[in-house]
Amino acid sequence: MDTQTLLNYDREHLWHPYTSMIDPLPVYPVESAVGVRIRLMDGRELIDGMASWWSAIHGYGHPVLVQALQEQAERMSHVMFGGLTHGPAVELARLLVEMTPAGLDKVFLCDSGSVAVEVAMKMAIQYHYATGHPERCRFLTIRGGYHGDTFHAMSVCDPVAGMHHIFAQFLPQYFFADRPECTFSQEWDGRDIASFALLIEEHHQELGAVILEPIVQGAGGMRFYHPEYLRQVRLLCDRFSVLLIADEIATGFGRSGALFACDHAGISPDIMCLGKALTGGMMTLAAVLTTAEVALGVSQGKPGVFMHGPTFMANPLACHVACASIKLLLESDWRQQVGRIAQLLEQGLAPCRELAQVADVRVLGAIGVVEMKEPVAMHEMQAAFVARGVWVRPFGRLVYVMPPYCITAEDLNILTAAIVEVVAGEGKS
Ligand code: PMP
Repeated sequence: MDTQTLLNYDREHLWHPYTSMIDPLPVYPVESAVGVRIRLMDGRELIDGMASWWSAIHGYGHPVLVQALQEQAERMSHVMFGGLTHGPAVELARLLVEMTPAGLDKVFLCDSGSVAVEVAMKMAIQYHYATGHPERCRFLTIRGGYHGDTFHAMSVCDPVAGMHHIFAQFLPQYFFADRPECTFSQEWDGRDIASFALLIEEHHQELGAVILEPIVQGAGGMRFYHPEYLRQVRLLCDRFSVLLIADEIATGFGRSGALFACDHAGISPDIMCLGKALTGGMMTLAAVLTTAEVALGVSQGKPGVFMHGPTFMANPLACHVACASIKLLLESDWRQQVGRIAQLLEQGLAPCRELAQVADVRVLGAIGVVEMKEPVAMHEMQAAFVARGVWVRPFGRLVYVMPPYCITAEDLNILTAAIVEVVAGEGKS
């Protein structure tokens, strides 16, 4: 199929994320991807600033991951997980239990981030149901969050930026505390937790869990909040016997500068969701980890089993690749790599601070954000990036990057220089 035919068929028949079937924005056809470069079908190469939405931390086509995938494909690509088990799942569970914050030692492996959020929320509800508190079935979260596109995940996404208004009739109504205002590096202001503290105090008897993205609010605004906020949330959850679900789907595996964002605050959640970079971006897989206490609670009461079990649960291909990706990460000097990226992002994006159209520039770990004052014309801006040989996909008022950790200083400088140039040109034409 030639490129034009492929594009025509795509436009006619394929839905892309958040797009129209009547008037979709153009897409760029990709031929292959290696390291930090995405090669388009017309031969152009783009330096990747997105790591395919937080996931490709080792870059594309890493030989260790490709080999792991091939080995496992030859051995066994999939078997059902009901009544059977296998090495890749057990090995992955062992790695995750060892590397995640203390106490998280029961592992549920599922398909994707949104499903992991559903599983976590069901787990919290079932725990309270089984331990004699069926009334504890609602959730408290913070504004500005994003947890995925399935129904319960949507119900705890930011009510303004999320899709609440469209699905209002079908979404459960939960509680939203004001979003934290104290940024990661500002001095802590105790007033920041007031709204959350009030809500948990008022509603704890009906709350099953608090769910939030620790430290980094991703798709809901790319904001980095103060670790003390998270510590206070942990204390309040303990005080009112409310479970804490940490959605580390975007932040897990070093992205924020700590292995898990919870580590910045030194806390352990009761339930943790992982996804995206779990397989180094090779394929979809997610994990929900919980404590022995929650797992025993769910298992001791009625119905005595956890009510979830997807067809592709613990897919051996994905589990084996995840093991290889985690080992690659832990054997690397990822902390130094992420620190180096942070420094280069700071330097490279600094000129944006001087621009009148820019509201804020912020960096945490290997995440760089330029927040504009006005929403950007996504397609035009994306085209301007492609013309400069980089892949950056802005949304709303945010131009942001989270490159693979293996990006060189030279490539990163090209990436940030392109951002400065494109952002400077925004509003001029
Ligand atoms: N939680 C967070 C914090 C996310 O960033 C995302 C994905 N952007 C999800 C959940 C949903 O994951 P998935 O897209 O794999 O369903």
